[in-house]
Amino acid sequence: VINDVPLVPEAPPRPSFAKRIQRANELAERYLAASEVLAYYGRLAFHQEQIYQSCLPSDESNFADLFPMLIEAVLPAFPEFARSLAQFAPEPLRDRATALARADFQQQHELLSGVTHGEVKELAAADHFIALAFLQPCAERLAETELPSMAKPQTTCPVCASEAICSVLRDRGQGAGRSLVCSLCMNEWSFLRVACPACGEERFESLPVYTPEQDSHLRIDACDTCRHYIKTIDMTKDGLAVPIVDELAGVTLDLWANQNGYRKLTRNVAGL
Ligand SMILES: [Zn+2]
Ligand SMILES: [Zn+2]
Repeated sequence: VINDVPLVPEAPPRPSFAKRIQRANELAERYLAASEVLAYYGRLAFHQEQIYQSCLPSDESNFADLFPMLIEAVLPAFPEFARSLAQFAPEPLRDRATALARADFQQQHELLSGVTHGEVKELAAADHFIALAFLQPCAERLAETELPSMAKPQTTCPVCASEAICSVLRDRGQGAGRSLVCSLCMNEWSFLRVACPACGEERFESLPVYTPEQDSHLRIDACDTCRHYIKTIDMTKDGLAVPIVDELAGVTLDLWANQNGYRKLTRNVAGL
């Protein structure tokens, strides 16, 4: 410990589902371009909480071993979840959710197994988001009891090995510290302040930042070496932000990034 700043800062508690839903409703009024996406997310979070409650917490956790078993255990809840999703998801997800709700057990099992350990790229886009939406609360439950190793800054989640959905700047006493938030289990881990989470590039001049003039708490961190980008939520500028929800609100930043030839590191539950 130097000057009361722990060398390995404790991860902040995960925001409750109620807090996520509330934030989604608030942001839907502020970010008109994202209001549909945020309304979808608010309803999704309501259903995700039910899945979360149905997953029993474990005393000791080894994510890699336990996640496949948990998938087996929650699989019976998938058809109903998919039917609900079909009622409020954006169009391309809606039809696919209906089809997956009716698919046989084996197909559903294959779909959900595709999301473990960063293998999501094997799945078609709509399947990826539906599986992600269903499994996020399960992974989150499991990750709560896991103490990730913080030995060195990792580009993928130290608990479940998935990619980061966004990065966060928090006040660490001696200036802002940066962390990454997992796209699957919501774990947050410390990361380098100036580095690309896709390829590890650390040269300042290769890492352009784009901040919209009217909204300084959301920005794009891009990388000219690998052409990936990630959104950063600056909580030193808006302490009420809920990173995974504010990430969804920044759809115009995704547009900017796409127009400038950058690819997102991984996509969120809305497929953005
Ligand atoms: Zn994770
Ligand atoms: Zn890069």
